[in-house]
Amino acid sequence: MLKIPQCTFCTREAGWVRPWDKVKLCKQHFNSQFTKKVQRTINKYKLLKRNDKIVVGLSGGKDSVVLLETLKKLQRGHQTELIAVTVDEGITGYRKDGLKFAKNAAKKAEVEHVIVSFEEKIGVTLDNLLTKFDMSNTKRLGACSYCGVFRRKLLNETSRDLGADKLATGHNADDEAQTILMNVLSGNVLKTLRSLPEPQLKDNAFVPRVKPFRWTSEEEIVLYAHFNNLKYQETPCPNSLEAHRGVIRDILTNYKEKSPGVIFSILKSGDDIINLNPTQESSGILNRCINCNEPSTKLICKACEIQNQLQEI
Ligand code: SF4
Repeated sequence: MLKIPQCTFCTREAGWVRPWDKVKLCKQHFNSQFTKKVQRTINKYKLLKRNDKIVVGLSGGKDSVVLLETLKKLQRGHQTELIAVTVDEGITGYRKDGLKFAKNAAKKAEVEHVIVSFEEKIGVTLDNLLTKFDMSNTKRLGACSYCGVFRRKLLNETSRDLGADKLATGHNADDEAQTILMNVLSGNVLKTLRSLPEPQLKDNAFVPRVKPFRWTSEEEIVLYAHFNNLKYQETPCPNSLEAHRGVIRDILTNYKEKSPGVIFSILKSGDDIINLNPTQESSGILNRCINCNEPSTKLICKACEIQNQLQEI
């Protein structure tokens, strides 16, 4: 008969064996270690302050749903104010479902929920933008390149309009390790400085983005949702297959079989790069776009560049 292992910290049955150090955890100890790790990450990078007004980017996927729940749990100690913001990109067969989970999560956490859409703010849904490019002679980038630019813009603008001190996103340790590896593989390792847990670039128009899950793996987030009965959107975005990130994700998933802690080793390398104390210049000086006056590292921001292209086709 299969013997269920005992929790390393108590006599209860373990629900999970942590792959990178073989520590066995029951549900209760998993939950407390999960929250402690997030708190340690917040402390390590000084991500949040007492009384901060925090916008949580809430897509309805596992990362953002668990992030909202965790920040809500930690809220009592921090006395922070939370507001959830969801961006509706206009992706048929995907976003509507995500909105449903986002609304439920915000309701459960008892926080204000603001929804902003590409259609309303940019004048075009992501689906229509892609169709326009596909029907023109203009070569288009992957869907995520456009989506990411406009989503970041809307999240920043909305957070600023709401008077937020921080914008918290659900990027997890796997996402962050993939980003660092992608930067290395493309010969742009210094781009790592643009995906800090809290970016160093300062501008009043730019609400600092913080990543409390930087050291929390995707597996831990899925388990947390499972142990705590949190519902989230599981359907993948139809455009996700276009993403180059998927190739890197597969490489790391294979590598984790041999070396389960590899994502943390990559993150440590990322932190070591940051700790070399590079100048702000290496991470891009923040100016204002001459067109829309939003923060940008270039003369014209990427969002205006895409909108200009759209007008020409
Ligand atoms: Fe946007 Fe790409 Fe994510 Fe889909 S997979 S929501 S297109 S960034």
